[in-house]
Amino acid sequence: MVKYYVLKGREMVLKSEGEQELDVQDLDLIAQEGVVVDRFSEASNEIEVLNLQDLEHLPAGYVRLPIRAYIATHSAEDVGQVSRAKALLEWRQNTRFCGRCGARLKDDEKQTARVCPDCGQIIFPRIEPCVIVLVHREGKILLAKHVQRNQDIYACIAGFVEAGETIEQAVEREIMEETHIRVKNIRYFGSQSWPFPSQLMLAFNADYDGGDINLQAEEIADAQWFDPEHCPASPKPGSIAYRLIEASKRQK
Ligand SMILES: [Zn+2]
Repeated sequence: MVKYYVLKGREMVLKSEGEQELDVQDLDLIAQEGVVVDRFSEASNEIEVLNLQDLEHLPAGYVRLPIRAYIATHSAEDVGQVSRAKALLEWRQNTRFCGRCGARLKDDEKQTARVCPDCGQIIFPRIEPCVIVLVHREGKILLAKHVQRNQDIYACIAGFVEAGETIEQAVEREIMEETHIRVKNIRYFGSQSWPFPSQLMLAFNADYDGGDINLQAEEIADAQWFDPEHCPASPKPGSIAYRLIEASKRQK
């Protein structure tokens, strides 16, 4: 079933009544009332997306909702479609000119890609792999508070996979850089598209292998071993970090 989205930044639009999803008439109506920045559809994933300059002046009968909140409460299929919509929108906004020759790109007619009319370069939607790791030590888990986050949340260690690295090397490096401890028994847990803007989160559990916590001051404000049943404020439902931490409670 085709899903119709009105997106702007980290928010989406739903019908006020019961927060129902939009249909094509809703999209047309909202497009008439607002300033349209982009509108595109992708038949293979059954999505149509309208991007407005702002969501301040929606017609009556519609509400704004953080995409993050929608993800936390909807099925895997719904989450997949809205994640695709959000990821493609971000990619289109950031992929307007050819990096090789500077010409303005066009939509490829046959596939979800952009093509350069001058040099022929084809550019596909970009995904950035990230690792997110929960480290275990004698029934306790390692959670860290990031410097840049303004909320007082303790989360798993995470970071981008760097060019030339294996995923396992990225896990070891991120933990070493941010907390100065060594890990072993790295075990794949699951993955999640995180289109804010284009991450693919690859989640792992790992076991403590040595070293003392020594924080990377620019990134980490605090890191401690916590009993999973008595964690401080941690990531909310809908994120793979939440699932990692919840799974550690069941393991005990
Ligand atoms: Zn070009």
